[in-house]
Amino acid sequence: MSEVITDLSGELVLQGIGVSPGVAIGEVVVFAQEGATISERVISERDVPLEIARFEEALIKTRHQISELQHKVSSELGEKHASIFDAHLLVVDDRYFVEEVIRGLRDKQRNVEVVLNDVAGRYIEMLNRVEDDYLRERAADVRDVTRRISKNLAGERMDRMDQLERPCIAVAHDFSPSDTAGMNRDIVQALVADSGSATSHTAIMARALEVPAVVGLHNISKQVSSGETLLVDGGKGLVIIRPTSERLFAYAQRAEDHKSILCELETLKDKPSETKDGYYVPIAANIELPAEIPAIEKYGAKGIGLFRTEFLFLNENDLPDEDEQTRVYSEAADRCAPDNVVIRTLDLGGDKFSSSIKITPEMNPFLGWRAIRFCLANPAFFKIQLRAILRAAAGRNISMMYPMVCCLSEVLQANEILEECRQELKKEGLPCAKKLPVGVMIEIPSAALTADLIAPHVDFFSIGTNDLIQYTLAVDRVNENVAHLYMPTHISILKLIRQTVLAGHAHRIPVAVCGQMAATPELVPLLIGLGVDELSISPPSVPMIKDVIRNLHYSECRTLAKDALRT
Ligand code: PEP
Ligand code: MG
Repeated sequence: MSEVITDLSGELVLQGIGVSPGVAIGEVVVFAQEGATISERVISERDVPLEIARFEEALIKTRHQISELQHKVSSELGEKHASIFDAHLLVVDDRYFVEEVIRGLRDKQRNVEVVLNDVAGRYIEMLNRVEDDYLRERAADVRDVTRRISKNLAGERMDRMDQLERPCIAVAHDFSPSDTAGMNRDIVQALVADSGSATSHTAIMARALEVPAVVGLHNISKQVSSGETLLVDGGKGLVIIRPTSERLFAYAQRAEDHKSILCELETLKDKPSETKDGYYVPIAANIELPAEIPAIEKYGAKGIGLFRTEFLFLNENDLPDEDEQTRVYSEAADRCAPDNVVIRTLDLGGDKFSSSIKITPEMNPFLGWRAIRFCLANPAFFKIQLRAILRAAAGRNISMMYPMVCCLSEVLQANEILEECRQELKKEGLPCAKKLPVGVMIEIPSAALTADLIAPHVDFFSIGTNDLIQYTLAVDRVNENVAHLYMPTHISILKLIRQTVLAGHAHRIPVAVCGQMAATPELVPLLIGLGVDELSISPPSVPMIKDVIRNLHYSECRTLAKDALRT
């Protein structure tokens, strides 16, 4: 992604990948990155006083920390041990050292981390060369203190999102889905990351929680420091460091326009998602956590088309047991009734890991022991969820689907385990769904190509375009370096979707799309034209997509898809 320096005002505009819309302005908190290196930044003449102020602030903090440490060591181990910190304090208070850094800032016009590192490096080298043991030992003191000052310059680098106490914009090299699943929406105003892409599960979570997010910025986590002001435009994928007052004013006006658009879209809530010529395409919700259920009603979605249940497992020390899962699924279905809820069985692995379920790190986690593969290999574990789903589905509108299916045998195996669970529940006299519609996610090319073989054994298909694109085009869905190759309209993807639709319809089963393609306004006409029966998207996207559908003609969508398949 490119970096654009707009003017001489000191404002810096960075273009990344906007993965969750919305605008936020706030103070940055940078999250720690193991092994982070110092990155060089050119500063302007007018930024020099700012850098000096940062340096002095870091020195004060460092001096305070050393004194506290000295005090602690003195009371616990005695004066003698505490005296080593005298030497550290001497370094912080060494005027020659401090002045050389300040002079370096003016001469080199580089960020203070770089200048400090240069100056300290020279000191250390000089001290190492001296034929005096005492002075040589001082090199270690300079190194220690420099490390401490650098750390303070980087600001309060946090380790975990749940440590945050005040509203801020969270910046990191990367966020894991468990980071985002655990974040507090009232505290985290926006997410900004070096890596990632629109279909990473972190992005999915940000959209679900309606937190603006921009990813794929390469090294933003090193370009900004905690405490700086950032403007994040998730819709356009822009991150603006040190925004000017003109910029802030323009954004305040846009926020007003945005509010009135949202009010207009809200009026669609109870209207059908039907084209102008009367073709109805239901829009269901994708959810990750039960906390999103109120948004289904708020935005007018028709039930749940994808419940990503693995998110229930991500931040938990105690994995949800059968009773707990039964309760969660039952409650979701009760709250969505009479609409249907599609529960996807666990899709752990790839970019989603639970600290309580040990999956050995793999070279290619997206191609490895993920989802249904992991569940089939651990039937006792899988059965807990299957039993919970069967119990919750007794008397409720619940269906279930398997993720990451690559061949029919996996479906047959999973269905066999499901049948075992049904028999067990019957024997135990526990409530159990007599008929539980079972579907398959079509997200691996081999499944799309053999959809005609799978269809007779299932009740519906749901196309997971996020993974289908990743596996068809061999483009890692979370790697920003290949994000430009992630092409939803590649002819191969359109053919696989069409083939799945034809196979499904030939066996009279409906075909939904629950990947991000379904929430992309310009792609919806194509999906409808390809014959997709239902869309499932994050609740906040529903009004926009409904608006798109209500302005379409089905006949034109068919023509569009036919033309696209020919190209
Ligand atoms: C998909 O792959 O399109 C999908 C909906 O599943 P997930 O994004 O959870 O992998
Ligand atoms: Mg998927």
